[in-house]
Amino acid sequence: MTTANPPGAPTFELSGGRLCLDFVNTVSGMRDVAARERLRGYSDLLAFARVAGAVDEPLARRLLAEARRRPDDADATFRDAIALREALYRIFLARANGGEPDGGDVELLSASLAAALAHRRLARRDGGFALGWDDTTSALDAPLWPIVESAAALLTSGDLPRVRVCGLFESGECSWLFIDNTRAGTRRWCSMKDCGNVAKARRHHARSKETGDG
Ligand SMILES: [Zn+2]
Repeated sequence: MTTANPPGAPTFELSGGRLCLDFVNTVSGMRDVAARERLRGYSDLLAFARVAGAVDEPLARRLLAEARRRPDDADATFRDAIALREALYRIFLARANGGEPDGGDVELLSASLAAALAHRRLARRDGGFALGWDDTTSALDAPLWPIVESAAALLTSGDLPRVRVCGLFESGECSWLFIDNTRAGTRRWCSMKDCGNVAKARRHHARSKETGDG
């Protein structure tokens, strides 16, 4: 699913099925081989958070202004965000492959969770209450709080065995992660539109060659 993206910002695809996986998927292609980085700085991180619903428009505007006032802090937050993203990638890739995540990565997520939860707030919603986040904040790491919570929730949920890596991981072409929501657990591609079509065309080509009509 591609959603409306702010002008000038990179395009983000939200096909992971969870906020934390969409964040992991802000690198296209294959990590360590032919990665295409979609986040080049703090404002890109903010653009992703806005598109993915991790921050609302007023908070995004406030944080962008704050980042312009404190560029060095924004850079540091951005570097932390990328380190967190790569830790999340390794954690969920390990699970997708049936392995154990690295202890240091889990520790980083756990520490990030503790920091994020300090900003949990009760919010009035529809005549009742809901869990929300401190929306008066100008903390530059605010976009990461819902992402961290999403990752901790997924890691501790019954959906964890449904985390998959794209079928083109084996051939070193795509390292996107997603939740397989099909009943039979048969989803193989991060996106049918991209990798699914590539694989289909390739199978077709291989068959044509076998039968000698291609
Ligand atoms: Zn893919």
